[in-house]
Amino acid sequence: MKKREPESLCDKVLELIKKSGPQGMLQRDLWKRLKVSSREGSRLVSALERKGLIVREPITRGRLKTFKLMAVSHKLEIVLESVRGCPCFSCMNLVRCGSGQYVNPEKCEDLTAWLLKDEK
Ligand code: SF4
Repeated sequence: MKKREPESLCDKVLELIKKSGPQGMLQRDLWKRLKVSSREGSRLVSALERKGLIVREPITRGRLKTFKLMAVSHKLEIVLESVRGCPCFSCMNLVRCGSGQYVNPEKCEDLTAWLLKDEK
């Protein structure tokens, strides 16, 4: 059975990451703030990542590789009006369309026309 992290420590980590805002915080800075080893910190961060509460983005600072930690916002508001008329919703090629594929959004004239419709 896996060892579970104390909820209060996970909560503290999550709170620190949330406070860093949308720019996130470097993993190594989190270890310093918490005064924990990278091994212990990684375990805490992995637990939060598995729960879908944070995301880890690999970055390079100087010659060092590290991760940027960002809280996932669950307050995302989607305005359906903003996607009204998008050709993808009724496209026959939707299942085979994808970046790097023969049919792809980067070369799709219908999608480009829809995205630019308000630019004229
Ligand atoms: S990007 Fe173009 S081809 Fe792809 S699903 Fe949307 S409308 Fe269809």
